[in-house]
Amino acid sequence: MPGEEENGRDDMIIDQPQSDFMRINALPDEFNPNYLKLYYGKLFPHADIFRWMSYGTDGKHPGCDQSFFGRREFSFTLDNDIYLRFQSFNSASDMENAIREKCPFKIDIGPVYSVDPAKRHAYAQAGDNVFTPVERELVFDIDMTDYDDVRYCCSGADVCLDCWPLMTIAIKVLDTSLRDDFGFNHILWVFSGRRGVHCWVCDAKARRLNNEQRAAVADYFRVYKGNENSHRKVSLMGQALHPFLARSYTNVLKDFFERKLLSSQQLLSDERYEKILDMIPDEGITSDLRGKWQDNRRSSMAKEDINIFRWDQLKHLLQSGKQKAPGLRRCVEEIVFSYAYPRIDMEVSKHMNHLLKAPFCVHPKTGRVCVPIDPDHCEEFDPTTVPTLSKLLGEINMGLRTAGDNEWDATSLGQSVRYFRSSFLQPLLKSCKEEIESSYIAKKEQSRNSLSW
Ligand SMILES: [Zn+2]
Repeated sequence: MPGEEENGRDDMIIDQPQSDFMRINALPDEFNPNYLKLYYGKLFPHADIFRWMSYGTDGKHPGCDQSFFGRREFSFTLDNDIYLRFQSFNSASDMENAIREKCPFKIDIGPVYSVDPAKRHAYAQAGDNVFTPVERELVFDIDMTDYDDVRYCCSGADVCLDCWPLMTIAIKVLDTSLRDDFGFNHILWVFSGRRGVHCWVCDAKARRLNNEQRAAVADYFRVYKGNENSHRKVSLMGQALHPFLARSYTNVLKDFFERKLLSSQQLLSDERYEKILDMIPDEGITSDLRGKWQDNRRSSMAKEDINIFRWDQLKHLLQSGKQKAPGLRRCVEEIVFSYAYPRIDMEVSKHMNHLLKAPFCVHPKTGRVCVPIDPDHCEEFDPTTVPTLSKLLGEINMGLRTAGDNEWDATSLGQSVRYFRSSFLQPLLKSCKEEIESSYIAKKEQSRNSLSW
């Protein structure tokens, strides 16, 4: 058969250059502790992490608090699950040397404490109860495992392009609200390396929130009032939606649910529609829909997607003028919220001293780098093509060089570091400098006033 011959020939054509490429790139595509040493030596953007964590205090301005960076907790997870908490560093080179030498599988970032966290015992012995967190980015952790009851393509640690849109939705909804409702500007989104995303809100006013205030912000995003046993996890109670929820629904949730999740997760297929019918508190309507759907299972649904067809039927019945009860009309929105609304790990956001994995770490199970995600282009982010450790070292081995003096410049990590610098770090440090200057002037003003008094 001609088709078979053609396939055979194609394979051979592809085979040749691939084997050459493999020889250069002869590294297994997974995590390897030896490669991690090379990664920290050549690619990890130590200086950028230091400048971020310094928030402008590493400058020469007399208002700079030189002790600031040294009071930040870092935590290292080493091979064999050895866990080093309360690490602190006095300088950029101090931090870089420790990372290169200890070669941590994971680096976590904690809060800035009142005193150097490495010396906390000395302060405790002195009887001073002064060891307390004083600053910490407002952070959010969203993990795909919390969505296991609404995704059918994978479960647990796995993700694919059918369920990843759930993370895209979370980024869009939270990012918009953090900027528009809370007025935050310096927000960094990071791929967790496997199945989720982290968010770092770095504005000064976010870093100085206390635990109660953090809990209040996290609670603002909570719509799940049910429990594990309740099918209707989202209860909008028939009331008018809060403007934030209404905007999220109109601008993000509805579109993603109808355009992506309905079909990709087959949410109204014969095996799955009962779960959605369970969320409709009107037996007349559910038996009406069930009857229609058992019927059109027999009829041939040739081209049209049956999930979209059935969703239109459901919406028509629930939202037609005949339905007087606002609870029923709300029900369409409740279903969409249940399947698509962001699920935040509240505990991570509520406490100042919760640790969160540093950006640009490598996930030990996937070998993928925890790269930043641009919220303005988060729909284009593909977790399955994020550079792996072995890919990056392969690129270094190929000896590509650019004019830049950084090795990452020539690798596929380059665009992530450039994005981190230009879109996040530079505007952040500019506002930090302005704040240091203005609070310095205010302090001088204050002391002059108290002197003249
Ligand atoms: Zn999936």
